[in-house]
Amino acid sequence: MIPAGFDYHAPRSVADAVKLLGSLGPDAKLLAGGHSLLPMMKLRFATPSALIDLGKIPDLKGIGESGGEIRIGAMTTEHELLNSKLIADKLPLLIEGVGQIADPQVRYRGTIGGDICHGDPANDHPALMLALDASFVLSGPKGERVVKADAYFVGLYETLAAADEILTQIRIPVPAAGTGWSYTKLKRKTGDFATAAAAVLLQMKGGTVARVSMALTNVGPTPLKCRNAESYLVGKPIDDGTLKEAARLATESCTPGVCLRGDADYKTAMAGEMARRALQTAQSRAKA
Ligand code: FAD
Repeated sequence: MIPAGFDYHAPRSVADAVKLLGSLGPDAKLLAGGHSLLPMMKLRFATPSALIDLGKIPDLKGIGESGGEIRIGAMTTEHELLNSKLIADKLPLLIEGVGQIADPQVRYRGTIGGDICHGDPANDHPALMLALDASFVLSGPKGERVVKADAYFVGLYETLAAADEILTQIRIPVPAAGTGWSYTKLKRKTGDFATAAAAVLLQMKGGTVARVSMALTNVGPTPLKCRNAESYLVGKPIDDGTLKEAARLATESCTPGVCLRGDADYKTAMAGEMARRALQTAQSRAKA
């Protein structure tokens, strides 16, 4: 289908984009890579009166390191993340996750900011951001604010960002040396969204878990942080028994929707299995 008509704006600065959002009102939409928004417009689930293209704002691009954090511009594409030496060196979990998003065509255009702002629990960045303890910089008419990822995803396609705010930057603390990682994703075929997936960062000390961060994709209205499983694991070794219990705890808050990928029981079971495998892989990569 062809989208309904819309006006097109291409501001050159964040300030101008914020002004446009304010003057055009809630019927205007920000356009990043377009790989979620345009399909919705073609299906006429979204009929914005205007698109504000963020693609010509240089400040929204780029990957750097500052004060122990990796800082990523919201308009950085998945392809650029995958090809960043800094990300490969400092955030291998992100590389492993991004490499499993869609296919190369989507990754050339799709942006980290768009993937986060869409608020779709099937997207991979939201759970990766929870596991990585990321923060998001939002710019609006009243200036800038920084919000934690674990407060940002409030419901299905719903985030903490106000209608007149733009996500400008993602900030991720660099994990301690020796931290193990894994993004383990079950999908029906290459290019598919997750049936279920688990993102894990794991620090071991003296054979037991010193610190663990784990989050799940597509098994609830938002990405899920597995706090009970995390608390359970600290101070314990990773073995068959603890893996089994951590996987069980991880599935406690799963409430997946039913779709062609399976029913709720199947998806919940797969979330547990992805959690178990991700923990096991992260342990094999952790240096105590
Ligand atoms: P857009 O589609 O342009 O925007 C998405 C939404 O976010 C819009 O509402 C827009 O207004 C808003 N927005 C965008 N940027 C900002 C910003 N900076 N500030 C505030 N609001 C903003 N994703 C996955 O994670 N995993 C997958 O496996 C996967 N598979 C896919 C397969 C296919 C075939 C396709 C077409 C898409 C797939 N996607 C997948 C989604 C893809 O990653 C999208 O690119 C992503 O969800 C949205 O990013 P975008 O840059 O294209 O944003």
